[in-house]
Amino acid sequence: MKSNRHNIVDTCFKSVLSSSIICGHCKNVSKVNEDCHDLSVPIPSVVSTATLQERVAEFYNREMESYRSHKSEMLNPDKILEQINFDKRDENDENEVTLMHCMWAFTAKEVLSGENGYNCEKCSHLDQEEGKRVLRDATKQLSIQKPAKVLTIHLKRFGHQLYSGKNSLLAHLMQSGGGLRKNSTQVTFPKSLELGSFIHPSSPWKNTMCKYRLFGVVEHQGTMNSGYYISFVKQLQVNKNGEHRRGEWYRISDSHAALSSQLEVLEGSQPYLLMYELVE
Ligand SMILES: [Zn+2]
Repeated sequence: MKSNRHNIVDTCFKSVLSSSIICGHCKNVSKVNEDCHDLSVPIPSVVSTATLQERVAEFYNREMESYRSHKSEMLNPDKILEQINFDKRDENDENEVTLMHCMWAFTAKEVLSGENGYNCEKCSHLDQEEGKRVLRDATKQLSIQKPAKVLTIHLKRFGHQLYSGKNSLLAHLMQSGGGLRKNSTQVTFPKSLELGSFIHPSSPWKNTMCKYRLFGVVEHQGTMNSGYYISFVKQLQVNKNGEHRRGEWYRISDSHAALSSQLEVLEGSQPYLLMYELVE
C-alpha cells in the first residue's frame, strides 16, 4: 500500500525552493526543486568601510548584470530593491538591515568555480589526463517555487562567518570577521511581508504578491555561551462558527505570559525566528 506522506507539518510548513544553475560555458540551465520547512537566512553585517546602502547598490549592479541575460531563470533585482526600500522604517538610515536584505543575501547569485565548479551534464567532458570530468564555472541562485502556508524564517545569528570566500558574491554583503559568535545586528521586519519578488519566474505563484502576516517571534537574549529564549505570539481566536482571527500580542517567557503590543514586538524585539502565515 502506498504510504501517505502528507502530514500536518508538511501541509503547514513545507515550501519548495528552486536551485537554478546556469553553466558559464554552454549556458545550459538546470533547475532542481527541494522541499524545506524553514528559510535559514544570513544577516548582512554593518561595517565601517561603507554603508549598507552603498554595498547594496554595488551588489545590485552585479546581480542586474546576470539578470539581464537570464530573465526567465533569475529573480528581478529591481523588484527586490523596491521591496527593500518599501520595508525600511527609516529612509535616512543608510545602515538599516531589513528582513528583505537577509532574504536577498539568501537568494543572491552564488558563483561556482575552481574546485567548487559545476559538473555540467551538457558540456563537462572527461579529461583523459586528469581522469576526471572538467568542472565549469557556473552561477547558482535559490528562489521560492512554492510558498509555505506557514513560513518560518530563521535568522542565522550563531555560527562561523561562512560568506568570506572571494568567489561568493554573498561576501559582498557579508563582510565581517571570522570566528564563532552571535550576530546581534538589529534586523527590522514588517508585520506584513511580501515575498512575490523571491518567487521563481516559472512558478505558478509568480504573479501573486505572496503576502504573509506576522504572528510569532522568537528572540534570543544573551550571548553565544549563555542566554535564553522568549517569544511573542499573536493570540489565535476561534469564534462559534469555527472562524479564526488573530487577537492581541502576548510576550511569553518560561511559564509567564503577559499582554504585549505590536509596537513592542516590531520595535523592541531582536528576532531569531519569525513566523508568518500566508494571507494571499
Ligand atoms: Zn555546460
